Amino acid sequence: MVFDTVMGIEEAKKEVLKCARCGKCRSVCPVFLETGDETRVARGRISLAEAIFQGEIFYTPELRDYIYSCKKCLRCQAICPSEVNFSEIIDALLEGIEKNMGIPRLARLILRHLLPRRRLFDLTLSIASFGQRFIPGERRGTLRHLPLFFMGNRWLPPLAGQTVLNKYSHAKGPANPKMRVGFFVGCLTNYVYPDMADSLINVLNKLDIEVIVPSQQVCCGIPARSLGDSTAARKLAEKNREVFEAEHLDAIVSGCGTCTLTIKRDYLKILGESWRPMHDKIYDINVFLEKFTRYDTTPLDSTVTYHDPCHLRWGQGIVEEPRKVIGRCATLKEMASPERCCGGGGIFSLIYRDLSMKIGEHKIRSIERSGAEKVVTSCPGCMLQLSDLAAAKNLSVEILHVVELLDRTLKENGKAATAVKQKTGAGNQP
Ligand code: SF4
Ligand code: SF4
Repeated sequence: MVFDTVMGIEEAKKEVLKCARCGKCRSVCPVFLETGDETRVARGRISLAEAIFQGEIFYTPELRDYIYSCKKCLRCQAICPSEVNFSEIIDALLEGIEKNMGIPRLARLILRHLLPRRRLFDLTLSIASFGQRFIPGERRGTLRHLPLFFMGNRWLPPLAGQTVLNKYSHAKGPANPKMRVGFFVGCLTNYVYPDMADSLINVLNKLDIEVIVPSQQVCCGIPARSLGDSTAARKLAEKNREVFEAEHLDAIVSGCGTCTLTIKRDYLKILGESWRPMHDKIYDINVFLEKFTRYDTTPLDSTVTYHDPCHLRWGQGIVEEPRKVIGRCATLKEMASPERCCGGGGIFSLIYRDLSMKIGEHKIRSIERSGAEKVVTSCPGCMLQLSDLAAAKNLSVEILHVVELLDRTLKENGKAATAVKQKTGAGNQP
């Protein structure tokens, strides 16, 4: 067993001992609620971790399946009365799997050699984007079934003709900006949702904020973290550090809940305390807008419902800020259980596609029953999953990012808008 080199193994062992085996996590875990399988909930996985750490059981394909089927949604962690840091445990298990059993060669190649080389990754995806047009097979509206190695059997909107990082390869902004803000774009926004990036940049520019989009930034590293490849995760984190530290920014914003959580929380673990000054400047876009800007709008004549991305709500405790932004743009009609997971989530939704869609069925029913014209969320991963779910159910509902709604409102009904410069930094959690 290779444990000595697993990052955070000692912390994980301590966290395992904190679990009181109360089973409260069973009441909320989206995977357990669908499968009813004790080995697929935090309590069961913690028992497995304890047995592994004590050398009573070994890594096997069956055990790997129990660990990979965790969505890392952090719902259990948010509700746990014993405050078990489940994230530490699952990360150590994933890394243990990678070190003891390895990961598929192709995945390793992509994580270690493709993701850190942006030009090469661009080239690969532009070939895929071109090929996407000629792939025979089913279509659901604009969604295409992609039988490509990196998307399994997911459905995807067309890949962007021009990526965000190529489009905004240098600074863009007002003449006398009040703040200089870096935009961490993230892969899904860069390659699939460039409109969301356009909106985020438009909104910030309108608020007198200069937006820097460093063209050499790379993937946040979440796919590597999800497969326990700490070498690849470190390589990506170091590259992003080099790129963003060079820009001397007042703040860094991201429109993806998962990217924000990764570059804040995980980079602190990967890069250590030297990342702290940058960590303190990183903001989810909703939090940034609420903290540093003021704008006056007349809400559009439209009803929207909001879906809470897990990594925003459970990972960072961000609940009110997106709702406040939406409230200034339209009539917010809460769906039943807006906090319930949509079933999406990177590697999980590729490996466990059927389970992912089953989890999402509750969400799509809630959306339908809300009667809202639009679903707004704040994570491109959730947008992808919601599009897939809506298309599968033939539900005609527009799916938008919060900043797209705000951009539209400022264009149609905006009155005054500006940034309110104040100190960024400490106290900005997690
Ligand atoms: S809720 Fe927390 S303490 Fe209770 S079983 Fe789950 S992980 Fe353990
Ligand atoms: S992180 Fe999510 S999927 Fe994993 S055990 Fe906790 S609640 Fe279940």
